[in-house]
Amino acid sequence: MGTLRDLQYALQEKIEELRQRDALIDDLELELDQKDELIQKLQNELDKYRSVLRPTSQSQQEMLESGGQLQEQQRTKRQAISAEPTGLNIQDISHVTLTCYTKSTESKELIKEAISENDFMKNLEVSQIQEIVDCMYPVEYSQGSCIISEGDVGSLVYVIAEGKVEVSKEGVKLCTMAQRKVFGELAILYNCTRTATVKAFLWIIYFSNCKMLTSLNSKSHSGTESVPPTLVMEGPPVSQAQTHVKLWAIDRQCFQTIMMRTGLIKLAEYMEFLKSVPTFQDLHEDVLSKLADVLEETHYDDGEYIIRQGASGDTFFIINKGKVNVTQQKSPNEEPVFLSSLSRGDWFGEEALQGEDVRTVNMIAAGEVSCLVIDRESFRQLIGSLEDIHNKVYENAETKAKFEAEAAFFASLDFTDFHIVNTLGVGGFGRVELVQLKSNESKTFAMKILKKQYIVDTRQEGHIRSEREIMQEAHCDFIVRLYCTFRNSKYLYMVMEACLGGELWTILRDRGSFDDGTTRFYIACVVQALAYLHCRGIIYRDLKPENILLDHRGYAKLVDFGFVKKIGFGKKTWTFCGTPEYVAPEIILNKGHDISADYWSLGILVYELLTGSPPFSGSDPMKTYNLILKGIDMVEFPKKITKNAANFIKKLCRDSPSERLGNQKNGVKDIQKHKWFDGFNWEGIRNGTLNAPITPNVNGPLDTSNFDIFPEDDEDPPPDEESGWDADF
Ligand code: AMP
Repeated sequence: MGTLRDLQYALQEKIEELRQRDALIDDLELELDQKDELIQKLQNELDKYRSVLRPTSQSQQEMLESGGQLQEQQRTKRQAISAEPTGLNIQDISHVTLTCYTKSTESKELIKEAISENDFMKNLEVSQIQEIVDCMYPVEYSQGSCIISEGDVGSLVYVIAEGKVEVSKEGVKLCTMAQRKVFGELAILYNCTRTATVKAFLWIIYFSNCKMLTSLNSKSHSGTESVPPTLVMEGPPVSQAQTHVKLWAIDRQCFQTIMMRTGLIKLAEYMEFLKSVPTFQDLHEDVLSKLADVLEETHYDDGEYIIRQGASGDTFFIINKGKVNVTQQKSPNEEPVFLSSLSRGDWFGEEALQGEDVRTVNMIAAGEVSCLVIDRESFRQLIGSLEDIHNKVYENAETKAKFEAEAAFFASLDFTDFHIVNTLGVGGFGRVELVQLKSNESKTFAMKILKKQYIVDTRQEGHIRSEREIMQEAHCDFIVRLYCTFRNSKYLYMVMEACLGGELWTILRDRGSFDDGTTRFYIACVVQALAYLHCRGIIYRDLKPENILLDHRGYAKLVDFGFVKKIGFGKKTWTFCGTPEYVAPEIILNKGHDISADYWSLGILVYELLTGSPPFSGSDPMKTYNLILKGIDMVEFPKKITKNAANFIKKLCRDSPSERLGNQKNGVKDIQKHKWFDGFNWEGIRNGTLNAPITPNVNGPLDTSNFDIFPEDDEDPPPDEESGWDADF
């Protein structure tokens, strides 16, 4: 055995060894960071050249497509999606009778379990799940038959009741799924093409004894598997039979009706409650609906004091569920006496909304109670901010006259007065060309050319009409101006202000990410644009770097109003719209959304500009949606996001829309006053005196060098252009 000195010596040696290892790890980590940075830089360069040098020949195309991993990582523009409007009217939806299908208790339990294990469907409310269980209907598929075909348009979601299914993509088997599994769920959100094929799989029952059959069911509970499904049974088989795969199904229309009406019924109920309270009787319907939205449901246990006599309070309550006993203590030495009891729909504490209220009675829960609650501050600021909004929308006479003269000038122009110079952008709808006014060559515009057929095929008529109406009325320095429109038998043309600084998306792609100050500038521009739209009751719904352009000064402007909608105040809309990485959770869960969905997207935009990637991004849209539903707190923020920026993002990306910055007490002022914007020159950005962080190189009105290069269009528009707009396409 060594002496103490020996042990101390050995310990010293070990400590030194550890120190050296730590130093080595530090060095290696540093090297790794440098290598990561280099990879990122090279990746950005590669993306840049790839999108500029578009393949022209078949072999080049094939070469790029076979690029494997690199091809996958290439930064490509993201496509927005929009569900077709549900066939049902909002007013009718609460009264629609849905068909229920009788099923055994075991079947109901099986469906419930499947839903509770599915990453998307487990987020639904209990009452919604109950209705879905009731409305699911049985379907059967024989062995080898196709349930879902890759590339087909889908509208059904399934739960496997009995048997197994095999999932494959491009002929390659991916996995098998067994009982209690949900599949095809993207199709209940919106019209989508199936990304994989699902076939009914051979399923064999070994009739050995009853015990065996039970054990078969519990074994197949395992869900997704990566090995072929050979069912290994205990005991000798007596006989065997091949059987069909049994499924439960529900379609999108039924699913969305269930989802929408839960929210609508709740809203109608809360509005009724509010209307019965004298304090709220003079409030306008839209204010009441906003108020209904911010009511918070609070639960109390039996015997719990909801309010206590003598205490001062600032909260108002409406009983939503249960019974509340009212008691009062007449003098300090006496026991409180029972006065009355209140139940659902009754309210108390309304004086607290006007000023500090000293409670004169006790309110005690008799059994389980749930109350809808609002405090004085929220109430006042909600009413205050709404008044503020209504008062703010005006234009002075001088500005009005200027816009009228401008409108008259553009109304006098004809399609043939323009001449195409170069292509600025290409999208699914068609192209955006830089055009020049023949009579004054220093005047150039961006002309968006939309294919009518594409609009009709994708059922976007309503969206395009909104885009035109809202954009033409928008006179905001942070929104691209739309001056006039033309049409012919094949195309629609929108003549817009040309922003020659290029897309923010391109600059982000080339630079990888932006620093805090640069991001703040662009976000401030976007905040100005959103504030302009929101105070007019308009939501934008497709915020992302792809839809932000820079003018020649480097100021950012919103473009592409394909998903804008005027919803008014205190109203909601239900159409699924947006770009997967940017959609708010309430859109995914079909709860109805309003302007606060734009504030969620603003948080995502801040994150993406600071890091180069959005916080929620899966390998397919459904995976992205499931990450979004897990919430921003599950996202690990990289070190380059400062504490203040992280706080700002997290306050915008709150799951609950009423808790989001921008949708609260002081509206957009809360955003402008957030500490991430401390010291920011808002006045300077409003009047255009603040220098932009990146000044694009724009050499005159014909310079398109800040845009990628696009091959020429080989389709010639027919020559029967006409001024005006064909509302019926
Ligand atoms: P959009 O579908 O409206 O987003 O247009 C597609 C692309 O065309 C954009 O991403 C831009 O690159 C380009 N673009 C659209 N509008 C303009 C404009 N007003 N000025 C310059 N480029 C534009």
